[in-house]
Amino acid sequence: MKDFKIYPDTHPYLRCKCEEVSSPFPNEIKNTLLDMIEYLKLSQDNEYAIKHNIRPGVGLSANQIGITKRFFAMYLLDSDKEYKYGLINPKIISTSVTKAYLPSGEGCLSVITPHPGIVYRYFKIKMAGFDVVTNKEVTLSLQGYPAIVAQHEYDHLNGLLFYDRINKDNPLYIDPDAVEV
Ligand code: ZN
Repeated sequence: MKDFKIYPDTHPYLRCKCEEVSSPFPNEIKNTLLDMIEYLKLSQDNEYAIKHNIRPGVGLSANQIGITKRFFAMYLLDSDKEYKYGLINPKIISTSVTKAYLPSGEGCLSVITPHPGIVYRYFKIKMAGFDVVTNKEVTLSLQGYPAIVAQHEYDHLNGLLFYDRINKDNPLYIDPDAVEV
């Protein structure tokens, strides 16, 4: 497995607005994305993660590994379905009115210190981009957990961190209209 140096939230990389990748997309970026997916998959293997001293993650953005370009990887299993994407120039093209949240809050491979609080995301999104797994332009319809992960990663590319979205006056407020995921 390729090991990645993951930059912390204190580094300016995490606050930069990343640049579009120009076409044709370099093989170097495509291969990096495939390595990022593999890294995430392995990080979810408890034994492997402990042995290699890495934290489990479900998403990783380019700027987290020091590349200020618009691409991110995600890998997760939700309801027995595998969500495995490496997206270049992702765009959110539509969102639901309904919001969703993880009751225990979100985590991030770049964030070590705890930031308790509820992060509201769209329950459903449509995201377009070039996917290196299928090697084509895709439009993904995501809902629930995978939609939350994709929005978290997309935020990274704009220099946003999950705790920026926590209500500072009332971090644990539960919106009764939002869906608990
Ligand atoms: Zn993150």
